[in-house]
Amino acid sequence: MVNFVGAGCGAADLITVRGLRLIKEADVIIYAGSLVNPELLKDAKKDCAVYDSAKMTLEQVLAVMKQAEAEGKKTVRLHTGDPSLYGAIREQMDALAEAGISFEVCPGVSSFSGAAASLKAELTLPGVSQTVILTRMAGRTSVPERESFRSLAAHHATMAVFLSAGLLKEMEEELLAAGYEPDTPAAIVYKATWPEERIFRCTVSSLWKTAEEAGIKKTAMILIGGVLGEKEIPGFERSRLYAPDFSTGFRKGTKD
Ligand code: SAH
Repeated sequence: MVNFVGAGCGAADLITVRGLRLIKEADVIIYAGSLVNPELLKDAKKDCAVYDSAKMTLEQVLAVMKQAEAEGKKTVRLHTGDPSLYGAIREQMDALAEAGISFEVCPGVSSFSGAAASLKAELTLPGVSQTVILTRMAGRTSVPERESFRSLAAHHATMAVFLSAGLLKEMEEELLAAGYEPDTPAAIVYKATWPEERIFRCTVSSLWKTAEEAGIKKTAMILIGGVLGEKEIPGFERSRLYAPDFSTGFRKGTKD
C-alpha cells in the first residue's frame, strides 16, 4: 500500500492528523527533501527506511515502492504542500495502477493557503474578487497557450503564482500588459510558515525590485490582487451571510 501524503507547506505541525498517523505507521518514506520539513521524519518508526526523492528519478522512486510492496510494507510518499498541485503524483499513480499496487492520497496545506494565512489575507472578498487563479509562469515546464499568464491575468481575479519567483520581471510585464494598475497590491511570501519565513508586501510594479533587493529567487509564493489591500479596499462589501437582514437555513434575518 502506498500513501501519497501532503506534508503541508513548511511548519511541521501543519500536516493533517491523518498524514501524521500514516508517517508513524510507515515502513518506508520517500520524501521530497528539497521542500518537505525534515522534522516530520522524527515521528517515523526507528526502523523506517527513508529516501530523499530530490536525488532520485521517477524510475528509482517506483523501484523503491515496488520493492516495499513485494515485502508487504507500507510506503508513504511525502510531498510538499498539497500533492494535487505541481506534485508530479499522476505519473507515480499511473505506474502503481499498472503494477496492481493500491494507493491513496492524503491532502495537505498548500503553500498558497500557508502564504495567505501568513499575510492574514482573505483571498475572496465580496466586491473585489470571488475567484483564485492558481498558476505559474512558463519555465522549463511549459504552460498551454490557452492558459498564458497574460490571458489569466486579464480576469483581475486574485492570483496565486507558484514556481515563478525567478521570473518576476516577466511577470510584472505580463500583469501590466493585462491591464493591472501598477499600484495593485501584491505580496511575495518566502518559505511561508517555515521558521525562516519572510513576507514582502509590494505592488504589481515593484515585485521584481522587491525580490531582487531581498535576494529571493525561489521557494516563494506570489499573491496578486486588490484583496491584499491593507487599508480601504475599493469595492469591498461586507458579507451577505452575516448581515442582520439575511436569512439562512440556520438563522432568521431581521428587517430593522
Ligand atoms: N504542492 C506544493 C507546490 C509544489 S511546487 C503546494 O501545494 O504548495 C513548488 C512551489 O510551491 C515553489 O516554487 C513555491 O512557489 C511554492 N512553495 C512551496 N512551499 C512554499 C512555501 N513554504 N512558501 C512559499 N512558497 C512555497
